[in-house]
Amino acid sequence: MLLKTLLNRVHPVKGFVYDKDALVADPTQPNGVGIEAHLRARKGSAGVCSGCGQRGPTYDTQPERRFDFVPLWGIAVVLVYALRRIDCRQCGVKIETVPWAAPGGKSPMTLAFTVFLARWARRLSWQEVSEVFWVSWEAVYRAVEQVVDYGLEHRDLTGITAIGVDEVACAKGQRYATLVYQLNEGRRRLLHVSEGRSVKSLLRFFQMLKKAGKKSGQDLIGSIHFVCSDMWAAYLKVIAKKLPHALHILDRFHLVANLNKALDQVRAEEARDLARQGWDVLKRSRWLLLRRRKRLTGKQRWKLRQILRWDLKTVRAYILEEGLQAMWEYRSPTYAGRFLDAWCRQAMRSRLEPIKKVARSLREHRESILNWFRAKKLFNCGIVEGLNGRVKLRFRKAFGFRTFRAMEVALYHELGDLPEPQVAHRFC
Ligand SMILES: [Zn+2]
Repeated sequence: MLLKTLLNRVHPVKGFVYDKDALVADPTQPNGVGIEAHLRARKGSAGVCSGCGQRGPTYDTQPERRFDFVPLWGIAVVLVYALRRIDCRQCGVKIETVPWAAPGGKSPMTLAFTVFLARWARRLSWQEVSEVFWVSWEAVYRAVEQVVDYGLEHRDLTGITAIGVDEVACAKGQRYATLVYQLNEGRRRLLHVSEGRSVKSLLRFFQMLKKAGKKSGQDLIGSIHFVCSDMWAAYLKVIAKKLPHALHILDRFHLVANLNKALDQVRAEEARDLARQGWDVLKRSRWLLLRRRKRLTGKQRWKLRQILRWDLKTVRAYILEEGLQAMWEYRSPTYAGRFLDAWCRQAMRSRLEPIKKVARSLREHRESILNWFRAKKLFNCGIVEGLNGRVKLRFRKAFGFRTFRAMEVALYHELGDLPEPQVAHRFC
């Protein structure tokens, strides 16, 4: 009796009533029991046609079907109901559609349980969710996918004025994904995931936005005024074509990362050479050189000073790398530009090929770099860094995604800030 009361409270279904419920033996469950709650249609209420959504008279009734529901006290709960067939005026004989079933039709899961699993999948890994709630990994995946599909279908894409484009290496090997974020103050979210990092990968985002704009009758692409990206040529090409009027900003995060990479290359080569000569001054120096000086402990700082005393290629690269940091403190794009030019001249004379390569690309993209200073007052580029960090974290957590689709679904779920299907009660 109490169970019926509870079900009516947390999961009322209009036009249907909870009939009987029972604790039954269920060998498929680890503890061997399950709760069955039977539903039946309220007398006089007609079923809804799954073809057109209109109500129609009952034609006949199908065998009982089971819909997985949110477990109670570690006991699996199943709603049992015999679907009616509707004699629909428009569609002919059709199976009825019931409000508690998850969208997609064939799923043996209730919408409530689908949303429940998807919510947990944001807090735990999918594997953990499947273990805790005794469902398969695929069931968790399908639940998240349904919630994500709903969210993508129902999300609001208006008001996007700033976007960031970034690439991430997924899994091992040379597989990439192109991610597009919205970077507006107060609305930061992942907008798009696309396989690869080619021109086509980024174009898919604009196609999606164009389609969504048609639906809402607005120019969603034209409203974008800022775009942040790294120097990847394919992205630059698409951005120049699709957003010719937007302020294109090469963001600091990527520039610093490129320079660090160059520094590390110089260090690795030199360390190898020195090791061959039997000198280990650069041994275990990687971390000391790449970390910001502020974050080093006293002992580490001392070790760093020992390295910096020597006339090494690595030391010259390090000093150049540190030197460029000062540029970001400028307020005026003009002065920042002068600083950048002077730095590039110095770097070109350094005889360090990896550093020269960076200097060449900084010169080539001078204007977009200075846009960072032009946009600074209006728009905070640091947001990209934060989102990027979250993506990397997600990839670590998501270790073991078998397909690109699964990874895509996970990223949208975690970072897309998507609307959820409405359910009457919050189970978790
Ligand atoms: Zn119909």
